[in-house]
Amino acid sequence: VSSEEATKAHLERIEAVEGSINAFLHVNDEALAAAKQIDERRAAGEQLHELAGVPIAIKDVLTTKGMPSTSGSRMLEGWVPPYDATVVARLKQAGLIALGKTNMDEFAMGSSTEHSAFGPTKNPWDLNRIPGGSGGGSAAAVAALEAPIALGSDTGGSIRQPAAVTGTVGVKPTYGGVSRYGAIALASSLDQVGPVSRTVLDAALVHDVIGGHDPHDATSLEREWPSFAAAAREGADGADLTGVRFGVVKELDADGISADVQARFKDAVAVIEAAGGEVTEISAPSFKYAVAAYYLILPAEASSNLARFDSVRYGLRVEEPGQTVEQVMAASREAGFGPEVKRRIILGTYALSAGYYDAYYGSAQKVRTLIQRDLEEAFQKVDVLISPAAPTTAFKLGEKIDDPLAMYVNDITTIPANLAGTPGMSIPMGLGADGLPTGLQLMAPMFEDERLYRFGAAIE
Ligand code: GLN
Repeated sequence: VSSEEATKAHLERIEAVEGSINAFLHVNDEALAAAKQIDERRAAGEQLHELAGVPIAIKDVLTTKGMPSTSGSRMLEGWVPPYDATVVARLKQAGLIALGKTNMDEFAMGSSTEHSAFGPTKNPWDLNRIPGGSGGGSAAAVAALEAPIALGSDTGGSIRQPAAVTGTVGVKPTYGGVSRYGAIALASSLDQVGPVSRTVLDAALVHDVIGGHDPHDATSLEREWPSFAAAAREGADGADLTGVRFGVVKELDADGISADVQARFKDAVAVIEAAGGEVTEISAPSFKYAVAAYYLILPAEASSNLARFDSVRYGLRVEEPGQTVEQVMAASREAGFGPEVKRRIILGTYALSAGYYDAYYGSAQKVRTLIQRDLEEAFQKVDVLISPAAPTTAFKLGEKIDDPLAMYVNDITTIPANLAGTPGMSIPMGLGADGLPTGLQLMAPMFEDERLYRFGAAIE
């Protein structure tokens, strides 16, 4: 197939199903022209990247030159950034075709995409259910065949949890492995950009393109990464797990995980053992404090990051003649931010305020260190940790929207990797009794993303 044919087919699919899915906030009207150009370059004999001409959907948290980038918020409605995020620039450089921008919870806060200012995305498996979040748009687009691959961002699970509940593959790379330049910041010490796809190899190919050092991101790691695509290919070829040590995280196979997900997880363990993998139980006692620590650290960092939306430099401005700067700022933030964003700004500024800082933010940072130590200890004993990637299959639209705590505890399985900075992946784990997808999470030590691709490809 030519890139033009592939791109056209996906644009037609978008046209056909978007009315019911709502995965896209913006469709790129220059996608076909870009695809034709790739076909011409290839016909002229130019050596192009393996993924050149392949269409890809991009989460709206990433800035795209000439295409609106809202991060799911009214605050940035209509804003067209003058620059590409590094990951987007690298995709273009490799010749991939941006299909458009995908829906998400406002500023990536949420687990259902219902906090988007532009209406929720529906799960293609059941239109009455959520596609996960915050990156529900990217996962739904891949699951609904609107895009073969997509980019997401994962601060507390926003790539892995949507992947789990839509039957797709999602990867959160090691912190610093992929540039955050041009990723609209939620919590800077937790955010990572990564791929969503239908196979482990596809995710690896995208990761190889977007990863690696970027001088524009001060936390970007300066190191040589192996080819993740090569690891995925080797893993898929051999599919032999003899001698590989898998650890089941005891704390993530317990209360709060639905019977359905636990049953599929048991099956997954059996598959791993049948392929020669050694499975043992590992305890990570600090994981039980992970959600509490995360929902202090995240709002603290988010309240600080979102201070930039002051209605002066860019973004929404709501003003009446004669108002002071403070009044304009307050009115703009009141109109521009949705309820979940306001809740977290208030939580974050409270946690950071003098007198409370040590008790809340300080304690949360200590928990973070304990989680890192639990993981370091676990990885002395095993090569990879496994758990369900989400505690349940997709819940119903509206089910948790009025209960922030119910929404937050949904992140128990994914949050530890963000707090520790370690890489994590979700791969399809089969359908629950309700006919909905479940996800298997693999976690590896810092810098060892390669293991996820090798063993993920062997298991999938
Ligand atoms: N559900 C998490 C939250 O609401 C995930 C956020 C994310 O990864 N962007 O914070």
